[in-house]
Amino acid sequence: MDTFDLVIVGAGNAALSAAISAKENGAKNILVLEKASKKDRGGNSRYTNGAYRFAYKGFSDLKKIIPNLKHTKKIDYGKYTSSNFLRDMNKVTQGKTDKYLSKTLTSKSFETIHWLSKKGLKFKPIKGRQSFKVNGIMKYWGGLTLEVNGQGEKLVDSLLNIVKKNGIKIQYDTAVTELIYKKKIVCGVKILHKKKIKKIFSKSVILACGGFESSSKMRKKHLGVGWEAAKVRGTRHNTGDGLSMALKIGAMPFGNWSGCHAVFHDMNGPEFSDLKISNKYRKISYPWGIVLNLKGERFVDEGEDFRNFTYAKFGREVINQPKQVGWQIFDKKVRHMLYPEYDVKSATMVKANSIKDLIYKIKGMNRSKALKTIFLYNNAVTKNIKFDPTIKDGKKTTGLKINKTNWANLIDKPPFYAYGVTCGITFTFGGLKVDKNCQVLNKFRKPIKGLFAAGEIIGGIFYFNYPGGSGLMSGAVFGKIAGKSAAKF
Ligand SMILES: Cc1cc2nc3c(=O)[nH]c(=O)nc-3n(C[C@H](O)[C@H](O)[C@H](O)COP(=O)(O)OP(=O)(O)OC[C@H]3O[C@@H](n4cnc5c(N)ncnc54)[C@H](O)[C@@H]3O)c2cc1C
Repeated sequence: MDTFDLVIVGAGNAALSAAISAKENGAKNILVLEKASKKDRGGNSRYTNGAYRFAYKGFSDLKKIIPNLKHTKKIDYGKYTSSNFLRDMNKVTQGKTDKYLSKTLTSKSFETIHWLSKKGLKFKPIKGRQSFKVNGIMKYWGGLTLEVNGQGEKLVDSLLNIVKKNGIKIQYDTAVTELIYKKKIVCGVKILHKKKIKKIFSKSVILACGGFESSSKMRKKHLGVGWEAAKVRGTRHNTGDGLSMALKIGAMPFGNWSGCHAVFHDMNGPEFSDLKISNKYRKISYPWGIVLNLKGERFVDEGEDFRNFTYAKFGREVINQPKQVGWQIFDKKVRHMLYPEYDVKSATMVKANSIKDLIYKIKGMNRSKALKTIFLYNNAVTKNIKFDPTIKDGKKTTGLKINKTNWANLIDKPPFYAYGVTCGITFTFGGLKVDKNCQVLNKFRKPIKGLFAAGEIIGGIFYFNYPGGSGLMSGAVFGKIAGKSAAKF
């Protein structure tokens, strides 16, 4: 029989942050249990760009995280206060985000990223995706300014190195199947390892094993009919196990169980993403073009807001379209502005020198309707406003059923491009209710002794939508708190 101070379930960003924090706070004998093999390690965290959203007062704060960051008049990193972050959380969640959790996430974001950098995580400015050149100066929008050097792959490997240096043990190929709950205290877990069920005892357990995005059954049950067919952008291992085992012992479900982060994703991508192509299946440069369904109609306001504030909800929109398919249309004027993932060889793309030829190349498209939609769109574009991708430029359409609010360029310069997309689910929003120590609460809102949670598995933070880069930040902030609390417990 094995006994530990602390068992952590999962080995993604939240779990590893929790492990480092627990060690720092006095837990000695820590075991991290990971369902995936060592080769498939890192959960969704490994698939990320490693971009963290956090509050910073300006260059001097960024320099604390990247000590060799050079000051130059050619780059304006801007600033992003914790109130800006909180405002954005409230905006995208329509005010639904749990007040305490979002206040904690936003107010502790800087100290947490600083802590991670002091532990050894290396960051760099995100070039291209989060900035634009204005009058010769590279201007950052603020908020999502840094990413881990080497993105998700390096993020996970660096965290694993720190964990290893701290003498924390990780066991792969080990699925936790059940919590051991005796006399109203969680005192260990049951595991499935090498086809054998085994018990591992511990003084406390942290669940950091993700949401249920990789279970088609749970997607259909909680997100709705149609979601069973969504493509999964990350790991195949986040099948809601931690949620199910916690609910089984009376934990309280919390948050937006019918909601998730889902994006436009290559329509021919595999059922689960692969690490080689990883994030490159996503297709999120839609603000510079328009998106048609197979009926030949637009179905979203592509220019509603900066892509950081719309990309996570548009996957849901495409699920509701015929055959769950959309086609993103661009012309030559904006083609160079598309993210590099539009250049991958496997991208589902057609190209033509006239709009008519382009539309005729799209299988299953209502051609006459599509041509009419593009004609009406071009006629509705406001001509006297200058296109400016660095701001919400107000270059809009008027008089359409769904107007485009910003960046409404004419689609008129050949060649023309169309990219076929469907829904790619990233992670689910519903989770467990935790208190300020990240201790899991039961249905009577009382803490379950010995049980803590961090990462995707916490409910109540995100509703309907999500500000880009907040998932990793949330995993780190609440992982750090959960680790400390579990160590103290
Ligand atoms: C393609 C992609 C790109 C993204 N880009 C970004 C980005 O740049 N910035 C950002 O902030 N967010 C991004 N996200 C979201 C981000 O990945 C998540 O919010 C974050 O990684 C969640 O961390 P986590 O530790 O909670 O879960 P994970 O990293 O998914 O870790 C959960 C772990 O638990 C394991 N597990 C599951 N069940 C069990 C079990 N029964 N027993 C043992 N182990 C189990 C899994 O194998 C997995 O390793 C992206 C997501 C994807 C898919």
